[in-house]
Amino acid sequence: MSESPAVYSDLHLQPIAGEWRAGAAGKTLAVSNPFDGALLLEVAQANRADLDAAYAKAAAVQPQWAALGPSARAAVLHQVVAVFDRRREEIVDWIIRESGSTRLKAQLEWGAARAIALESASFPARVHGRILESDVPGKESRVYRSALGVVGVISPWNFPLHLTQRSIAPALALGNAVVVKPASDTPVCGGLLLAKIFEEAGLPAGVLSVVVGAGSEIGDAFVEHPVPSLITFTGSTPVGRGIGRIASGGAHLKHVALELGGNSPFVVLADADLEQAVNAAVFGKFLHQGQICMAVNRIIVDDSLYDAFAERFVERVKGLKVGDPQSIETVIGPVINERQLQGLREKIELARREGAEPLYEGGAQGNLLAPHVYGEVGVDMDLARNEIFGPLVGLLRARDEAHALELANASEFGLSSAVFTRNLERGVNFARQIRAGMTHINDIPVNDEANAPFGGEKNSGLGRFNGDWAIDEFTRDHWISVQHSARRYPF
Ligand code: NAP
Ligand code: MG
Repeated sequence: MSESPAVYSDLHLQPIAGEWRAGAAGKTLAVSNPFDGALLLEVAQANRADLDAAYAKAAAVQPQWAALGPSARAAVLHQVVAVFDRRREEIVDWIIRESGSTRLKAQLEWGAARAIALESASFPARVHGRILESDVPGKESRVYRSALGVVGVISPWNFPLHLTQRSIAPALALGNAVVVKPASDTPVCGGLLLAKIFEEAGLPAGVLSVVVGAGSEIGDAFVEHPVPSLITFTGSTPVGRGIGRIASGGAHLKHVALELGGNSPFVVLADADLEQAVNAAVFGKFLHQGQICMAVNRIIVDDSLYDAFAERFVERVKGLKVGDPQSIETVIGPVINERQLQGLREKIELARREGAEPLYEGGAQGNLLAPHVYGEVGVDMDLARNEIFGPLVGLLRARDEAHALELANASEFGLSSAVFTRNLERGVNFARQIRAGMTHINDIPVNDEANAPFGGEKNSGLGRFNGDWAIDEFTRDHWISVQHSARRYPF
């Protein structure tokens, strides 16, 4: 293990090809606190040459890293967990300051990123090949499973630490080398801080590089580069679509794992426990100001409960504390940046213009936007059709269960979903008819566990993270057959 400073320093530098240094793009990125605008640090951005160096070094050192063997790689992951525990406050503080997360959300994110490190520590012992039967006399048919090689990771700003960690921890545990391009809003939590943690945990230099640069500038080069054989991307659907196109249509074909936008329906059936459903909807909508791909995006309520639900929901929402994310009492902190805020303001205008019924419209100050709730939202309105990614939400009235299902499926997205009912098998039956990667009965759509398959259907993405599914994503199968006796060919 390298020496461990009380608090990490030099986070304005990037670990590129085994060395912490400034990027060579000749441009700096100012990283600021979304709550008060305070400048946190300035990063000299990476250019194409930095990217080449990072990928080349990753390719060079990956075989030795893989060859260290399962126990040594697992040990690094266990050390990562230990560093997470030792530095909990430091990590939580960075998440709050860099991404505008409330203390509660930052603590949850710390926990999720720690959990996937712990889960990943078990991967080296869980990955295995197979021996298959063969119809060919004298043939032995083996399937070897090995690391992919180099993995490129592009991550977003909303859960930057966790959404980067859920790619790099399994990828590294399984013997890959990794290059990360974090979101420009969150280069520290989305890459630099994790690189410090892995370094302290004993990861050899060069196995993990981080390049900080705008997606619009180095994104294409990052994806089409000949070295990485897998690109994992978490972010918006339009950008993900472009990445999929480059990865499958460029000069170098490669695997992609895409975790994209969502439009989670939150369905309340006629026999639901109203109080429980309201509590869940409030938390599932407003955690992290609604900036979660799995966040409740549409609340679909059976006609018989609709009025009571709306009244109780608005009552609860009015009491949510908006303010400084450092305070443990704050529920709603700032949205990430002015551009996102402007987009949310436009959504509010559009909701009014389209005739949604304003049930509650909170105020706004700086990047803080208080909750907005609209009723009688139609399936064709913007609030129902598109991902909101902010503290606004619409209620849709369902005539009955069949109509609720029709509304739930009326979306191009299929990431997560939720249904409330006192009859659990009715819930399961309903859930199985939702076209989504994840459905939670009597809970919020926001769930992510290190051992359960995370991912979406339709325009929400391709592939699954976590558990056995991550082992599949971050390794490749190689069929190798051995002909023990001379084979007789037809001609
Ligand atoms: P975004 O704009 O797509 O950005 C995501 C990442 O892609 C950032 O690192 C960004 O870099 C990079 N990027 C942008 N343009 C690129 C390009 N042309 N080539 C390569 N990389 C590029 O998304 P966002 O606004 O940060 O995040 C919000 C979206 O992410 C929402 O739609 C949300 O649903 C989705 N999301 C999905 C999941 C999931 O697991 N399914 C989780 C979280 C978020 P820059 O920052 O430098 O532009
Ligand atoms: Mg962005």
